[in-house]
Amino acid sequence: MLNLKAFEVWFVTGSQHLYGPETLKQVAANSAQIAAALDVSPAIPVRVIFKPVVKTPQEVMELCQQANTSADCIGLITWCHTFSPSKMWINGFKLLRKPMAHLHTQHNREIPWGAIDMDFMNLNQAAHGDREHGFIMSRMRVSRKVVVGFWQDQRVQQQLGAWCRAAAAWQDWQGAKFCRFGDNMREVAVTEGDKVAAQIQLGYSVNGFGVGDLVQCVGEVGEADADALVDEYRASYRIPAATAKRSGLRQSLQEAARIELGLRAFLAHGGFKGFTDTFEDLHGLPQLPGIAVQRLMADGFGFGAEGDWKTCALVRAMKVMASGLSGGTSFMEDYTYHFDADRSLVLGAHMLEICPSIAAGKPALEIHPLGIGGKADPVRLVFDTPPGPAVNASILDVGNRFRLLVNEVEVVPVPRPLPKLPVARAIWAPQPNLEIAAAAWIHGGGAHHTGFSQAVTTEMLEDFATIANVEIAIIDAKTNVRDFQQQLRNNEVYYALARGWAS
Ligand code: MN
Repeated sequence: MLNLKAFEVWFVTGSQHLYGPETLKQVAANSAQIAAALDVSPAIPVRVIFKPVVKTPQEVMELCQQANTSADCIGLITWCHTFSPSKMWINGFKLLRKPMAHLHTQHNREIPWGAIDMDFMNLNQAAHGDREHGFIMSRMRVSRKVVVGFWQDQRVQQQLGAWCRAAAAWQDWQGAKFCRFGDNMREVAVTEGDKVAAQIQLGYSVNGFGVGDLVQCVGEVGEADADALVDEYRASYRIPAATAKRSGLRQSLQEAARIELGLRAFLAHGGFKGFTDTFEDLHGLPQLPGIAVQRLMADGFGFGAEGDWKTCALVRAMKVMASGLSGGTSFMEDYTYHFDADRSLVLGAHMLEICPSIAAGKPALEIHPLGIGGKADPVRLVFDTPPGPAVNASILDVGNRFRLLVNEVEVVPVPRPLPKLPVARAIWAPQPNLEIAAAAWIHGGGAHHTGFSQAVTTEMLEDFATIANVEIAIIDAKTNVRDFQQQLRNNEVYYALARGWAS
């Protein structure tokens, strides 16, 4: 998976020449100390690089230009230790194309009551300097995160860390390529959308490829390579007795291994960060890819079934956000319900393609008929998902914009064994409950496909939506359907007008 330490955020402190060289030297020293502390904070997954204090319009503009062209820089954290008159930031902000976080902090935690004098007051001015800084960003409609508090506090560092994860996912999307084998599942609406709009606004491209090109890659897989991967399957997963004694087991596993190796070769050759397939276009493939998709997702690839390119890209982004955290991330589908007077539950699964990063314990390798698509019985990994908090997220094209819908959920222990269910699954109670969450989700037009994660937080997705300038609607413990519907109506007006305000 991605190493987020390859990315940098730049720590930028604003000031002005009015204070004189002595104060500015102190400002620089204090800022460097804060940047260094953030750089080594376990809560912050990327490098934090101190940049020389900016004091003039020219310096701000040059810094923003450098940030735009730096491949490693994924965003700026700004702070005004002293007062930094904000008209000097205008030309820089007009150019800036990287995400912004405004850290509203102070080098000193406390007021030194007995010792405070005008020198201290002159130096520690973020309380008003950062307000001037915030005004110009609001005036210019610069999307940003605002984090308030003492820079050594865990809460502050965690908020910055969440933003860094979102900024890394955003950087990863810029220029990313996603591949579609075949088109959509026929007649399905929610998996469609404007790919040109996605490329303009979100930075990634989506292009289709004939499944025959994949079939050719699968055909080129060598016998020894397929055998070696089958050995890896046998070593990595439990094989239940019913599967172990299947006739044709060896051939099924070899077919699955060939598909995985062929897919890997195709994706590597094209530089793709994720892919979609559809069971309605498998011509020349012996089985619908199951274990192959599962293992590719575990390696960080995005995936969407039935041609769902938006969910594919979202799963990839969530994989980047989650990098290095405990808890997995997967493509998911709300599959079937358990209505209960006390607490209704959702059984989430898919025909095959759930990522084993969310497995509780060692997955079982199983082979069963699919019951759809008319192909050979596909090999898949079967497992439960550990209990705990998670999020489900869905990105939609609602015609004039993209909408990110998020539902916080609680994964519960599997209430009873599921001996006949041949797919990986998670069982959760949505917040605030299934009845309200599903009503809100349906009013919001949320897809049946989602990115599901036990590592990604709502805060990261909010930061991501802010960076991407995408509408976000959150269903959590406080949601009620009436207010949620009103929020969606308000957003219709806001997003219809917002473009005009941006300039
Ligand atoms: Mn599906």
